[in-house]
Amino acid sequence: MSGNANRGLLIVLSAPSGCGKDTVLAELQKKIPFKRSVSMTTRPIRPGEQDGVDYYFVTDAYFEKMLREDKILEHTIYSGHYYGTPRTAVDDWLAAGETVVLKIEVEGGGNVRRLYPDSVGVFLVPPSMQALEKRLRARSSESEEEIQSRMTIARNEMRFAMQYDYIVVNDRLEDAVDDVCAVIRAEKCKSSRCGNQISEVNHYAES
Ligand code: 5GP
Repeated sequence: MSGNANRGLLIVLSAPSGCGKDTVLAELQKKIPFKRSVSMTTRPIRPGEQDGVDYYFVTDAYFEKMLREDKILEHTIYSGHYYGTPRTAVDDWLAAGETVVLKIEVEGGGNVRRLYPDSVGVFLVPPSMQALEKRLRARSSESEEEIQSRMTIARNEMRFAMQYDYIVVNDRLEDAVDDVCAVIRAEKCKSSRCGNQISEVNHYAES
């Protein structure tokens, strides 16, 4: 799907697990309007998470049915569980000119970039791998084995950072939120996305 001046802005936000994506997005929501796609996953629900808000928590059989019916825009298997982006909401929002944020891992990020070449990739990095491990442990929602598995994935994911358009370091939360906000504002002002406004202004200037 190619970009044009009518379409909204698709942001792909990736980061190693535990890097604070959810916190950044929650704060970002207070500063700038955007739609956040709710992914579908087969992983167990964590304490504090809500079905339909954080994820749609589904069974393997249901996820596979959605895949067969082509209702998943992109998906991956992460740490033994399916994760995928439902297709309809994203396309509807983009067609309505909204800013849409997908919070997905690097493989899905690459797939979305291929499907939507005008999407913008933002990679959130921890200040250090030690800080990341500390955050994962502080969350205490995963077993030691799961933490080690996520750290291995995280080290691998860091290698993809340079394939993204922007890198934001999540050290001080306020700074990271400001940086992502700045990226969205700047991308929305790109001339390639402002064709409609310019034609309108020109139309009135000429009439
Ligand atoms: P968590 O289990 O920590 O919520 O998520 C694990 C990883 O899966 C994170 O990197 C998260 O961004 C990613 N993820 C969440 N939803 C999706 C999705 O729909 N597609 C893909 N490709 N990754 C996702």
